[in-house]
Amino acid sequence: MSGQPTIDTNEPVFFHPDLFVVPTNGEAPYLLGYKCEDCGKVWFPKLEICPECWTDLKQITLSRSGKLYSYSIIHIGQRGIKSPYAVGYVDFPEEVRIYAQLAIPHEKLKLGMDVEVIEGVVRLDKNSNPVMLSYMFKAVE
Ligand SMILES: [Zn+2]
Repeated sequence: MSGQPTIDTNEPVFFHPDLFVVPTNGEAPYLLGYKCEDCGKVWFPKLEICPECWTDLKQITLSRSGKLYSYSIIHIGQRGIKSPYAVGYVDFPEEVRIYAQLAIPHEKLKLGMDVEVIEGVVRLDKNSNPVMLSYMFKAVE
């Protein structure tokens, strides 16, 4: 099935390769945005064309950090994520809002706080082994 992790390997699957880059040289990970060549609006996740003016999009590197716009603590969550966990929307300087899990202690969550992109485990199997890696946000130290 598309988008489903495989669980017949011990290595977690890296998800969202067209949205998230983890450099192999040890540099910090970053997200990819898609900027309209006409109106300049940035989209995330990836789209084929700008839905506002039907123009091609150019892949761009997004800033590594943004501001927490909104968050929620999920007490009864999806299968494969240990509850409770936090999710939120982050506003990036490129004027795009991105949703992800938050690797931030819940008592430290604060609207408007600076957060940055990290690679993290976003799904566990039934034995709590990591099965999927993708982007998450953590507090900027
Ligand atoms: Zn456009």
